[in-house]
Amino acid sequence: MPERMKDLFTLGDLKNWKAKSKTPIRLGVFGDPVAQSLSPQMQNAALENCGLSMGYARFEIGADELPAALESLPELNFVGVNLTVPHKIAAFQLMDEVDESARQAGAVNTIKVENEKLRGFNTDGKGFARAIREEFSVDLRDLRVLVLGAGGAARAIALECAKENAERLVIANRDFEKAKNLAEELRPFFAEARVLGPVPRLQAIPWDEPAFRFQIANVDLVVNATPLGLHHADAAPISARLLAPHLMVYDTVYSHGQTALVSAAIEAGARAANGLSMLLHQGALAFEIWFDRAAPLGAMREALSSASR
Ligand code: NDP
Repeated sequence: MPERMKDLFTLGDLKNWKAKSKTPIRLGVFGDPVAQSLSPQMQNAALENCGLSMGYARFEIGADELPAALESLPELNFVGVNLTVPHKIAAFQLMDEVDESARQAGAVNTIKVENEKLRGFNTDGKGFARAIREEFSVDLRDLRVLVLGAGGAARAIALECAKENAERLVIANRDFEKAKNLAEELRPFFAEARVLGPVPRLQAIPWDEPAFRFQIANVDLVVNATPLGLHHADAAPISARLLAPHLMVYDTVYSHGQTALVSAAIEAGARAANGLSMLLHQGALAFEIWFDRAAPLGAMREALSSASR
């Protein structure tokens, strides 16, 4: 096989690293699946814009391959990597150090290699807060939020809502126990009473239509933090008939075109956005961690918008 336009590497490639390219690959994203990730386009545009002569690539790394892949980073002179599904929670145990953002989220999405050590960070929560501000011109502290999901992304988002003192937080998950556990972890943030009427400030709810229907009237922002929508055939995580014009709907999924949830929300007269803005801001924050300098947001945004067309 001719040298693939190697934009997808594997653990085997890392173990036998001889990536031939004009600019050495010293950054990347580990995930499985990862072929659909737009991080390389965005980060390579940032590197180029800043005159940093190195590249960022995709690495298809399975769950059981993560320890070996991470171990290889210092000797290969990597600056760092991003992590996506399914690695964020598993990676937490594999770091030499974690910062406060990763410790609180219990998950790592950005790793910086420093003095041969792996330092873990989590930029998803802050990236989400910036995305909401950008898309809807509101701050989380003013919102009543329904988060769909209780996995890595949902944890970071729910934690950010808690830290920003959101008015209300409701967590729904298919595995209800996980939603309840996450709500319990966040309870200390919601101790302060607020005048909200008959609904509690913090609540876990089961994944079913009656529960969603009741909550919709009592929230402002609905966030999809499940992978539903990644595939064209996926239904929206919440029934279209429940969506209402007062809502803001944020789908962390970014796929080509609109997800079913975003389309249904717009149809219902609600404001809606997909996860490209969160991808942008979590990526900009990662860039700042790696290089201790401001990220070129304009170049990153432009690269993302042409890659997602
Ligand atoms: P995880 O695997 O950690 O969590 C997945 C969550 O989705 C769980 O709560 C799971 O519920 C739920 N879920 C999965 N399948 C279904 C289903 N068929 N029906 C209902 N619920 C389901 O993944 P992450 O949290 O890391 O990522 C989730 C998604 O968030 C990603 O697919 C990605 O699209 C998006 N994301 C976007 C980012 C961005 O920058 N825009 C950043 C990070 C993530 P259960 O516990 O019951 O299994």
